[in-house]
Amino acid sequence: MTHVMIIGGGIVGCMTAMELVNRGCRVTIVERNQIASQTSGESSWAGGGIIFPLLPWQYSEAVNNLTRDGANFYRELSQRLLLETGVDAHFAQSGFLLLPAFDKHAAVSWCEKNQVPAQTVKASAFKVQSLSGEDALWLPTICQVRPPYLMQAMRKWLEQHNVTMLEHTQLAPLQETQQLNEWQTVNGEKLSADQFVVTSGAWSFDLLKETSAKLNIKPMRGQILLYQPKHNLEQMVYREGFYMIPRLDGYLLAGSTLEDVGFDNGITEAVRDELRIKAEAIMPELKNQPIIKHWSGLRPGTPENLPTISAHPTIKNLFLNTGHFRYGLTMAPASAKLVTALILGEEPRIDATAYAYVC
Ligand SMILES: Cc1cc2nc3c(=O)[nH]c(=O)nc-3n(C[C@H](O)[C@H](O)[C@H](O)COP(=O)(O)OP(=O)(O)OC[C@H]3O[C@@H](n4cnc5c(N)ncnc54)[C@H](O)[C@@H]3O)c2cc1C
Repeated sequence: MTHVMIIGGGIVGCMTAMELVNRGCRVTIVERNQIASQTSGESSWAGGGIIFPLLPWQYSEAVNNLTRDGANFYRELSQRLLLETGVDAHFAQSGFLLLPAFDKHAAVSWCEKNQVPAQTVKASAFKVQSLSGEDALWLPTICQVRPPYLMQAMRKWLEQHNVTMLEHTQLAPLQETQQLNEWQTVNGEKLSADQFVVTSGAWSFDLLKETSAKLNIKPMRGQILLYQPKHNLEQMVYREGFYMIPRLDGYLLAGSTLEDVGFDNGITEAVRDELRIKAEAIMPELKNQPIIKHWSGLRPGTPENLPTISAHPTIKNLFLNTGHFRYGLTMAPASAKLVTALILGEEPRIDATAYAYVC
C-alpha cells in the first residue's frame, strides 16, 4: 500500500488526504499546529465559505475549471460527513445577491454560458440597501459551507479512516535531492514515506525555496467581522469586493480584506472600521449591533489566483498542491483529484496544465 505524507493540514491537505484514502493509500498528515483548530489551517479556518469565485467572469478558464464543481461536491460531501461523523458542516444553498456596480453584460453572459440561473432584481426586494438605483443580480443556486465545521467533520472522517495525524510537528525547509526518502522536522526527527505532497499554503515557498521549485506564493491577509443581528439576511450579499454571509444559526460574517503584510496575522482597528462601515451601508440596522468577533487568516496568494498542482520539477516522489489563494475551499475537491492522479501515476483524464500553474 503506497504511503503518502501530506505536509499541511488545512482544507487542501485534508481534502487530498480524503481522496488518497478513497483511492486505497495509507496517509499521514504532518501539521505544525492542530488540524481543524483556529491555529492550524491558517487560512482554512478563517475563510468565509462561499463556494463561488468573486467574481468568476473576472477570472481565467483555469480558475473556472477548478471551481466549477465545488458546490455539487460539498453538497454531497457534507451529507456524507454528517451521516458518517455526526458533524454538520452547515452546507447551505443560500444564494448570492450581487449589488451594483458590476459589469452586467459580463455577468449575465457568463451565467448564461455556464448555466448558472441569474435574475435581474431590485435590492430592496431583499431588504438590503443599494447605493444606486441600478438593478442587482440574484444568483439563487450559489452555496456556502462553514469552514470550521467542515474541517472538524473532515478531521473526524480522517481519524475514522486511520489517517495518521502528526500534529505540532513542523517540517524543516527541504534541500534539493533526486529522491526523497525522509523529511526532517525542525526538531531533527526524520519522517519517511513513499510519496510526499506539499499542501502548506502560504508557507510553501519557504519550505521549498532551497529546491528547484520556485513557487510564486506569498501570504495575503484577510480580516473578517462577525455579527449576530436581530434579523439576519437570508442570502449572501456582495458589493465591490465586500461580502456578507448569513450563517444557519443566526450569525453574519462581513469581510474581507486583501492585505500584503507578510506573515502578520493580526487584526487592526482601521480594517474593523472599514468593514463595519461597508456592512452598515448594506444593512443599516447593524449600526446598533455589537461586533462579536474579529479575526484574520493568511491566504496563500498567487498571481491570477492560480495554484500549483504538479510534480516537483526535479524531486521524483514529491508533489505540490498549493497556492489556492482566494478560492482554496472551492478549488480543493478538483485540486485533490488532480494531484492524486499525478501521485498514482495515472494517465490524467484532465490536463493538469490547463488547470494550474506548473513550476
Ligand atoms: C478571510 C478569508 C476568507 C476566505 N473566504 C473564502 C471563501 O469564501 N471561499 C473559498 O473558496 N476560499 C476562501 N478563502 C481562501 C481559502 O480559505 C484558502 O484558499 C484555503 O484555506 C487555503 O488552504 P490551504 O490548505 O492551502 O492553506 P492553510 O489553510 O493555510 O493550510 C496550510 C497548513 O500548512 C501548515 N504548515 C505550514 N508550514 C508547515 C510546515 N513546515 N510543517 C507542517 N505544517 C505546516 C499550516 O500550519 C497550515 O495549517 C478565504 C480565506 C480567508 C483568509
